[in-house]
Amino acid sequence: MRIYAPFISGQVLPWHGDTIASIDPATGETWSRIARCSAAEADAAIRDADRAFRQGPWADLDPSGRADMLDALATQLETRWEELIEAEIRDNGKRITEVRGQFSALHGWYRHFAAQARKLTPVPQDNAIAGVTSVGHWMPYGVVVAITPWNSPLMILAWKLAPALAAGNTVVVKPSEMASASTLEFAQLAHEAGLPPGVLNVVTGFGHEVGEALVRHPLTRKVTFTGSDAGGRKVAMAASDRVIPTTLELGGKSPQIVFADCDPETTVNGVLSGIFLSNGQTCVAGSRLIVEHSIKDAFVARLTERARSLKVGDPMDPATHIGPLANEPHLRKVIAMIEQARSDGADCLLDGSALVQGRDGFYVGPTIFDQVTQTMQIWREEIFGPVLCVATFDSEDKAVTLANDSEYGLAAGIWTRDGAKGARIAEKVLAGTVYINHYRSVDPGSPIGGIKSSGYGRELGPDAIRDFLQVKSVWTGTTPTPDPFQ
Ligand code: NAD
Repeated sequence: MRIYAPFISGQVLPWHGDTIASIDPATGETWSRIARCSAAEADAAIRDADRAFRQGPWADLDPSGRADMLDALATQLETRWEELIEAEIRDNGKRITEVRGQFSALHGWYRHFAAQARKLTPVPQDNAIAGVTSVGHWMPYGVVVAITPWNSPLMILAWKLAPALAAGNTVVVKPSEMASASTLEFAQLAHEAGLPPGVLNVVTGFGHEVGEALVRHPLTRKVTFTGSDAGGRKVAMAASDRVIPTTLELGGKSPQIVFADCDPETTVNGVLSGIFLSNGQTCVAGSRLIVEHSIKDAFVARLTERARSLKVGDPMDPATHIGPLANEPHLRKVIAMIEQARSDGADCLLDGSALVQGRDGFYVGPTIFDQVTQTMQIWREEIFGPVLCVATFDSEDKAVTLANDSEYGLAAGIWTRDGAKGARIAEKVLAGTVYINHYRSVDPGSPIGGIKSSGYGRELGPDAIRDFLQVKSVWTGTTPTPDPFQ
C-alpha cells in the first residue's frame, strides 16, 4: 500500500515511522497511509523553510521573479491538474464534477497572485515633518504555516500559498490528517515546476501533534488556518503565546433569506446549491432557510421534491449529485445531530438516511427539517453535512433577526426581485459575504472571510497579498539634523 511521506527540502522523506490510514469514504476501505509526523518533522520543515527564506535562489528573487515562478507553477497546473484528482476524491469523497471544476481553475489563483506580486512597489507615506521623507517598504514575514481542512484541500491551499509566496515568504503546509494525499502530490508538482527546495514543505499528521508544534515553533512568523472554530481557537491561542499573527477562516451557519417576491426557480436552485453541493461540506453551506411565511409551504414542497430527486452515488461517477461524507467520525457526528433534531421536536420533511440504505461507505442523503426553533442544536451549530433547517418570517425585521441569530457570520443569501429590499437587507445582515439572487461564487478578485466565530482576516481580493506582508517605514532626512540641545 502506498505511504505518503512528508515533503521537505524538495524531496519525499524516506518514512519508517507511524502512519495514519487514509480511508476512501465511498467504500470505507483504507486506500493509502500518510506519515504521522511529530515535533521532529515540524522542526525539520520549519528550519528548512527558514533557510530557504534567508538564503538561496528564493531569497534572491525580486517580486517579479517570484511572479514568474508562480506563473510557471500555474502553467504546470494548467496541463497537469487531472493527475491530482484521484488522490483528493479517494481521501474526501468529493464528487468528480466539483473537483474538476475546482482543479481546472487552480492555475488562475496562482496567476492572480503573480500579478499582485508584480504590482508590489514601495508606497510614499504622508508626513507633516519638514526635511524628511518616509516610504513604506513591503517585507515578507518569513516562514508561514498554512493549516488546511479536508473539504477542498488544494483550492483552499491555493488561497493561502499563492499570496504567501507572491509576498516572498516560504510556507510549511499541514493538510488535514483526513485528506493529505493531494497536497503531497501537488508539492511534488510545484517542485517540478521550479519552486526551489524549502519554499514549500508539507508535513502530515494530527493537528494537536504536528500542527501545534508548527504553530509553536520559534521560527514560525505567521499562521493561516482554515478549519473548525474549535481548531481555530487552539491555533490562535498558541500563536498569541508567540505573538505571531493569524488569519482564521472558520465555520458557518449561513442563512438563506427567501422573500415571497423571489424568482422561485432560481431561488430553489440557489438554495439547493447552497446546502447540497459538496454534500453540505462547505464553509458557506446555506444551512438555515429563512422563508417568508406566505410562500413557505409551496416553496419548501418544491425544494423537498428537488432534493429527493438528487442522485446519491459514487463520487467518481459524473452523474452523481451527492457523494459520501468525507470520513466516518464526521458521518457519526452528522447522524447524531440529525437524531438530536428529531428528539428536539423538529419535523423531518426529507430523511436522507432512507435515500442511502444498503450502501457501503459514509453516506447520508439530503435531509430537511421543518418546525425548527432557535434554541435547537440544529439551528445553532454547524453540521457541515446535507442538512437544511427551515424557519419563517412575516417582516423584514424578523428576517434579519433570524439571519443574525448565530454565533457565526461567514455568508448569507438573499432572494428577492426587489433590488432596494435586497440592498437594505444586505446592509443589515452580519456576514463577511452576502449574495443577492446568487450563492456561493468565489473569485480571486473578491475577499472572503468571516466575522464573529467564523474567524478574522480575509483571503482573496485585490489586497490579499498584504495579509502576508508587513510594512517597514523608511525615513530619510533631506536637510541637516539640527543639534537637539541648542
Ligand atoms: P479541523 O479544525 O478539525 O481541522 C482543520 C485543520 O486544523 C486540520 O489540518 C487539523 O489537523 C488542524 N488542527 C486541528 N487542531 C489543531 C491544533 N490544535 N493545532 C494546529 N492544527 C490543528 O477542521 P476540519 O474538520 O478539517 O474542516 C471542517 C471545518 O473547516 C468546518 O468547520 C468548516 O466550516 C471549516 N472551513 C472553513 C472554510 C472558510 O473559508 N471559512 C473553508 C473550508 C472549511
